[in-house]
Amino acid sequence: MAEIPFLDVVQTAQDLVRIPSVNPMGREVTGEIYFEHRLTDYLENQWKAMGLPYERCEVFSSRDNLVARLDGDENAETILLEVHQDTVPVDGMTVAPFAADLRDGRIYGRGACDIKGGMASMLNAFARLSRDAKSSRVNVVLACTINEENGFDGAKKLRQHWQSGASKLLPRAPDKIIVAEPTNLNVVTAHKGTIRWQCYVEGRAAHSSMPELGANAIYRMGPILNQLETYGLQIVPLLASHPLVGKPTLSVGMIEGGISVNTVPDRCTLTIDRRLLPNESAEEAFANLQDYLASHGLGDALIHETPFLSTPGLSDQLNGDLAESLLQTIRECGHEADCMGVPYGTDADTLSGGEIPAVVFGPGDIAQAHTKDEWVETEQLKSAAEILYRYCSRS
Ligand SMILES: [Zn+2]
Repeated sequence: MAEIPFLDVVQTAQDLVRIPSVNPMGREVTGEIYFEHRLTDYLENQWKAMGLPYERCEVFSSRDNLVARLDGDENAETILLEVHQDTVPVDGMTVAPFAADLRDGRIYGRGACDIKGGMASMLNAFARLSRDAKSSRVNVVLACTINEENGFDGAKKLRQHWQSGASKLLPRAPDKIIVAEPTNLNVVTAHKGTIRWQCYVEGRAAHSSMPELGANAIYRMGPILNQLETYGLQIVPLLASHPLVGKPTLSVGMIEGGISVNTVPDRCTLTIDRRLLPNESAEEAFANLQDYLASHGLGDALIHETPFLSTPGLSDQLNGDLAESLLQTIRECGHEADCMGVPYGTDADTLSGGEIPAVVFGPGDIAQAHTKDEWVETEQLKSAAEILYRYCSRS
């Protein structure tokens, strides 16, 4: 029998960090380090070597989800383990991003914490489950998806695949979902959703030496921007609150206007990020802002585009049993863990669709994710792998 890869979780995490899979985050960049396909190839080769059934499904050109499956008893429930393949960019890092240096019980590098450490733990658990597959009762599907960091498209495609019956390995919805993100071995049962969109005001271009002939779109945006700051800081936090994730937020993250300093700008565009509470309606949040501006006489000038991102947030209304049993396994493994809410987004809400119990769990602290010296503790990798293995083999 061929040797089963992924059984050394630390070595696996190092291997994964050494294969760049940087998400350009919408920037026009090219280079060897960008996109997930090298990592996808590596995972595919390993699954091939293990003789496991797998599917490689295109989401965008050369950007593929990879799904593998271990069969349990007929009619048994299916646990989906999901992890994203992409990392954020490496600009400004102070450690070698792809060296995966091992020092003082930590692996350093881009993705060590978010989320190649978590991926290594899932792969390790999956490899161990495959080794004793004959005694497994549940079906375990491991999905490695693309583009979590900039739009959750891999997760969206994965869900479409089981909904449409396009996937042989996931012919129907899973019964439970565990999404890997750095939670410090806690169980995240709730997180915020996000709605992002652009809005703009128009003006009239003119030569800057005769500005009176034009209408300056940047000046027109001024009072709107002031009102948005007040709205974001003083109004949005009062709209609602959630015991695990706190209050909603609004942030204007980008502003763009003008084509040259000697031209009166005819357009000024903002990009807005509004974080939603679980179960808060994206449509209502969008409408609330427009109503607020209208009530301050600023409704007509600002033109809103259709949101380019909308995710609902993860609600803790469905996942109580899953969280409790995973938490029990974590505690049996000797870790003081708890259920918690977090402000950041994950693939969990997209995959759950408000219908399937889903939680987020993994090694590493979100405080180290995306940082200039990103790292993860090797002990946490081992613990996460053991917890996932025990949880799946007992379910
Ligand atoms: Zn992540």
